[in-house]
Amino acid sequence: MAFDDLYQEIILDHYRNPQNFGEVYHSCTVVEEDNPVCGDQIRLMIVVNADGLLQEIKFKGSGCAISMASASMMTEAVKGKPISTIQRICSDVIGAMRGEKDPQVLENYGDLVALKGVIQFPARVKCATLAWHALEDALKEEAKKFTR
Ligand code: ZN
Repeated sequence: MAFDDLYQEIILDHYRNPQNFGEVYHSCTVVEEDNPVCGDQIRLMIVVNADGLLQEIKFKGSGCAISMASASMMTEAVKGKPISTIQRICSDVIGAMRGEKDPQVLENYGDLVALKGVIQFPARVKCATLAWHALEDALKEEAKKFTR
């Protein structure tokens, strides 16, 4: 199987079977982002616990396979991790998608390696980064809570 086929398979798998898709029904930080170019929308809900770990993360949304798969892979990659680690993952993934970091960095993050297949399609990069920008915004909202 060629690498591109493998990446496509991973993306379609997450699209058909998204992880952490749904709502958080108690107090949480909510952000919404959209990518008007493609019509992708995401609503991201996170809960950070007192130890600074991302205790819960769920998303809802609609859009193309890349946007929804990226959100699903993102939730798997960051759930339960410390915020400082998550910020590094965000910066690695967004940097790799924008061509500012070596795409090899995606090899460190499980299924996210499939996003390497998207880098060669600049028009789709925004689809892939939508969920990640939502996560960065949600973490900024969280940070405000603690500096109030
Ligand atoms: Zn899209």
